Amino acid sequence: MSSAKTDKRGKRRASSPLFGLVIILALLATAGFFAARDFLSMRAEEPIRPSAGLTSIRPLSSYFPALAGTPGDTDVYVFKGREEGGRVLILGGTHPNEPAGYVSAVVLIENLRVDRGTIFIIPRANRSGFTHSDPQEASPQRYAIETPSGRRFFRLGSRVTNPVHQWPDPTIYVNPGGQALAGIEARNLNRAYPGRPRGNLTERVAFGVMELIRRERIGLGLDLHESAPEYPVINALVFNEAAADLAATAQMSLQDQGLDFRLEASPPNLRGLSHREWGEAAGIKAVLIETPNASHGRLKGRPSASLVVDGRDKFYVRAAGLGRLYVPFGPEGIPLRDRVARHLAGVAALLAGLADLEPENAVGISGLPDPDGIRAGGVGAFLRRPPGGRP
Ligand SMILES: [Zn+2]
Repeated sequence: MSSAKTDKRGKRRASSPLFGLVIILALLATAGFFAARDFLSMRAEEPIRPSAGLTSIRPLSSYFPALAGTPGDTDVYVFKGREEGGRVLILGGTHPNEPAGYVSAVVLIENLRVDRGTIFIIPRANRSGFTHSDPQEASPQRYAIETPSGRRFFRLGSRVTNPVHQWPDPTIYVNPGGQALAGIEARNLNRAYPGRPRGNLTERVAFGVMELIRRERIGLGLDLHESAPEYPVINALVFNEAAADLAATAQMSLQDQGLDFRLEASPPNLRGLSHREWGEAAGIKAVLIETPNASHGRLKGRPSASLVVDGRDKFYVRAAGLGRLYVPFGPEGIPLRDRVARHLAGVAALLAGLADLEPENAVGISGLPDPDGIRAGGVGAFLRRPPGGRP
């Protein structure tokens, strides 16, 4: 009897720690499950709901098959008019931490109709960059835009390709234009043009964009960006030589609408950028549009999803008071709606300028929300509701 008790006690002594271990493992597995779900949700793409004017969607790999099945392959939305005309490429999401560039491309896709000419839109130009966030920045993973049918969430990604998809970075990166840059720039799509067909993933994406430009005989390329309010190239049209007259014409028309834009000539010795290499390699007109985004500036306070959307930050108000910024910055901030309104006004002015300067390459569009409408109604008023969603 006594030995049985001992056995029993012995079993109890053995089973208690085992039971505790099982509980701990179960808790870790549960925490791991939720953490993994949260982490992997960064790689899920939110839907884009194209307007009835869409002609087709094709992968970038249809121009450069080596991209097929890679995280660099990305959708190209094509809007073809009935009449022949100019051929224009618009990129959003070259830098996925610059939300107005991406959201402007989405608003275009969800509203655009093309009557004459053809417009190609790539909203997630660096698709891999949307699958992670910039490290050590405490950036929110996503932000919400209120729409009449509820909130729509958008990913806030990183300036560069995900290191899971392209690793390691070199110590010094020499880009296809021959410029030596910091190693991390090897993952920056806007330093990788004109790309390399057998280069790293980012260079292959750049090469895919160049193949599209060549094969579709693009005449004008627009690249939609944002930069920090303390950066000098802001509220700007950055143009290559071939687009000088066009950018000046567009700037005058934007000025008439009360929208101040600087004109910045693309520096010939700054290599690898869209506004330089699209022209050098394919002879097209290229313009990059910049708007001010406090959420990726260095002077901001606490990063948050509301900073991305509302663009209000007291430290930027102070910096403006000290004369340190290149844009006016008041307590009302620079909200996403104003930045998207600027981008779309820029696109419309450049297309109107193209029609004036080169009538044979005119692109006729309709459906584009006007800047006042976006500023008054918000971006969400111009995002399409889900099929069967609430009116
Ligand atoms: Zn950018």
